[in-house]
Amino acid sequence: MEDCIFCKIARGEIPSSKVYEDEQVVAFNDLNPQAPVHVLIVPKAHYANLNEAGGMPEALLAALLRAASRIAAQLGLDKSGYRIVSNCGPDACQSVQHLHIHLLGGAKLAEKMS
Ligand code: 5GP
Ligand code: ZN
Repeated sequence: MEDCIFCKIARGEIPSSKVYEDEQVVAFNDLNPQAPVHVLIVPKAHYANLNEAGGMPEALLAALLRAASRIAAQLGLDKSGYRIVSNCGPDACQSVQHLHIHLLGGAKLAEKMS
């Protein structure tokens, strides 16, 4: 995906504050953080959102969640807690059409997510 912003970040064409990288996944700080820690975890390969999970390799789906767990531990959130969210489609207000998981923490988060 030529013009996809997260593909460009994954390829290193747009700078980002990277917190984690492995073969399949990259994670970086959100430009507009909604919590003291707000990291975006994205597959290096382009998928629009979780609607495409059926066509994704199982290893990649696993890698995304494993990355969330590793990053949480790396940032010291594993004991205090954190939340992961993936907005999918218009009702969820997905604004970047490249699958990503938000990892939020570092403070007590709102009880309700809507
Ligand atoms: P969505 O609303 O699609 O679930 O989340 C997209 C997120 O990407 C937003 O939280 C927004 O702040 C973040 N974002 C958009 N463009 C950029 C960018 O160029 N760099 C970074 N680091 N985050 C971005
Ligand atoms: Zn993309």
